[in-house]
Amino acid sequence: MGRFDGRVAVVTGAARGIGLAIATRLADEGASVAVLDLDEAQAGAAAEQLPAEAGRPHLGIGCDVSDTGSARAAVERVVGELGALHILVNNAGVTRDNLLFKMTDDDWDTVIAVHLRGAFAMTRAAQQHFVQQKYGKVVCLSSVSALGNRGQANYAAAKMGIQGFVRTLGIELGPFGVTANAIAPGFIATDMTDATAARVGMPVEEFRQAAADRNPVRRVGYPEDIAAAAAFLCSEEASYITGQTLYVDGGAKLVS
Ligand code: NAP
Repeated sequence: MGRFDGRVAVVTGAARGIGLAIATRLADEGASVAVLDLDEAQAGAAAEQLPAEAGRPHLGIGCDVSDTGSARAAVERVVGELGALHILVNNAGVTRDNLLFKMTDDDWDTVIAVHLRGAFAMTRAAQQHFVQQKYGKVVCLSSVSALGNRGQANYAAAKMGIQGFVRTLGIELGPFGVTANAIAPGFIATDMTDATAARVGMPVEEFRQAAADRNPVRRVGYPEDIAAAAAFLCSEEASYITGQTLYVDGGAKLVS
């Protein structure tokens, strides 16, 4: 028996990276999972590779979470095709790093739109189902960068915004059986951090090693580290935890 038997989960930005690891973990523990990502074909390919068994379908849906109509349509399709919605993981993300004086309006707007408006649009679309059934779990991806990070004024603002967002969801939705929490990862080895290595002109392995050397536990994080935390926060064991941000960062926050 899995912790998520009979549950239906949506994970945004789940065609790769942390989102794919979370989708895999939830599916591994019994959930039917809808993989949402910008590209429907990639979302479908990811859904096909999730742990599965007869009678428990997964779904891949093309969705731009920053677009209200797209977010709403995706949620309705999940409920229509998978029969319900119990878990929402707002994971989709982008970076447009630049020092403040070089940051464009577009850099700012894009990051705020995907992380903050995206989490808002998806959660607003999902909450009506959660409230009706008096059950729901929301997990949003924040970041250790919420505490401030050079070159990431847009991303830090969005990721700290996520922390305020889940605190407010905790207050508003708690009476309806819904919990909402955030996970703030430190350095996780994914395409996103590989792209940062490329931007600063460092080979990926050297960049990861430098991050590991700075970290109290002397390693980088992996998508599975975040998936384990997400599964806990979506489980019944975490039913008395809401509005919180869990730093999953090997202690990076302690030394930043
Ligand atoms: P990633 O490898 O870049 O994957 C992000 C995924 O989100 C991609 O599949 C991307 O699709 C998708 N996406 C982007 N914009 C979208 C939109 N508007 N609608 C739907 N999907 C969209 O990133 P990651 O490293 O796994 O990060 C996942 C989350 O963790 C993000 O919220 C990130 O900010 C957060 N985080 C990551 C780290 C880290 O070290 N990696 C640390 C702290 C927090 P495309 O491929 O089509 O662009």
